[in-house]
Amino acid sequence: MSDNDIETVSKAFIERHGRPPAGVWAAPGRVNLIGEHTDYNDGFVMPYALPQRVTVAAALRPDDTWTVTSLNNSDTQTFGRSDLVPGMSGWQAYVAGVVWALAEAGHRVAGADLVLTSDVPLGAGLSSSAALECATLTALADLNDLDIAPLDRAKLARRCENAFVGAPTGLLDQAASTMCTGDHALFFDCRSFDSEQVPLDLKTAGLEILVLDTKTPHALVDSEYATRRASCEQAAAILGVPALRDVEDLDAALDQLKDEEMRRRVRHVVTENGRVLQAVQTLRAGDFRALAPLLDASHASMRDDFEITVSTVDLAVEAAREAGALGARMTGGGFGGCIIALVEAGSSDRVAAFIGDRFAEAGYHHPEHFVALPSAGAGRVG
Ligand code: ADP
Ligand code: MG
Repeated sequence: MSDNDIETVSKAFIERHGRPPAGVWAAPGRVNLIGEHTDYNDGFVMPYALPQRVTVAAALRPDDTWTVTSLNNSDTQTFGRSDLVPGMSGWQAYVAGVVWALAEAGHRVAGADLVLTSDVPLGAGLSSSAALECATLTALADLNDLDIAPLDRAKLARRCENAFVGAPTGLLDQAASTMCTGDHALFFDCRSFDSEQVPLDLKTAGLEILVLDTKTPHALVDSEYATRRASCEQAAAILGVPALRDVEDLDAALDQLKDEEMRRRVRHVVTENGRVLQAVQTLRAGDFRALAPLLDASHASMRDDFEITVSTVDLAVEAAREAGALGARMTGGGFGGCIIALVEAGSSDRVAAFIGDRFAEAGYHHPEHFVALPSAGAGRVG
């Protein structure tokens, strides 16, 4: 987000509604540093907020109607209270679902006009959907004087995504968007909801994190996500534990499981939880270079055991390492999307160009990239 986005949505609001907005709010997308598919297993995650965000200008209206304009797709949608039915289709479901979740939780939410823009890449695994939900929620909470803590905001936004939009995601994306702070990663326990802001001062360590979008459309993501989730739940039931988070002895657990595929799924979740805990230790000690082997191991586990990577993503990770990245992994739910690579400060463009050449040779789309600095969570910006 830039000051530009604040000006853009404010101007567009005035043009459309003939009055100034009551304020401007923003909520970021995220990268997950480590801890993939652990959130719905009651495990650990460690995301940080991106500078890219959804910026929304908003004001209350005198009736029970909501209008929302996205400057990204130049579309305006209108809905009333009777339209707030789970299963709504279209992008506006992410906005209507937030109104629905707030109302369901007993909050009084008055009608409002919203005009938004976003520089979070859509559908790239950087959580443009959570950014949209959390920006809407932050704006509506302030406009209606609702006193809701960041964790509870994340839970409401997740409820929107799960029950209204119909995507069975864990709490990772929304917790990152509402709870992250600048210059820190968020160590988050998805069972107890305990959190810790862990300093992530990569610059002082002479490092940076490159995010590279492989531009791979994730065609099967919804069904594959659901089958992974179901497999984890079945495994937990067979092992007699509430969630895979509770597996203490991995070898003993694997001995109890007959199905080879299920064994690999369990091995990913259990080892990935362990890697998040190790990553927290390295960050607390300021030993950022020690993150690298954990990123590499996380990628191998997602590729071989959880089977959620695709050839573009695997090539990007391999090429990043060949170009001198200390470590790299896919970030996000999988089946396409982005990789992150820990690289020496100032080398991101060179590493990305190398990956771009390898993509050209393989006949893949040209990837896009940026350096991702840990940025602020959701809040009022104007
Ligand atoms: P991700 O969260 O990884 O970006 P999702 O599939 O979960 O991918 O969410 C992407 C969807 O969110 C888009 O297809 C669109 O419906 C909605 N969305 C996100 N940001 C915007 C925006 N600025 N304007 C309109 N729709 C948006
Ligand atoms: Mg999403």
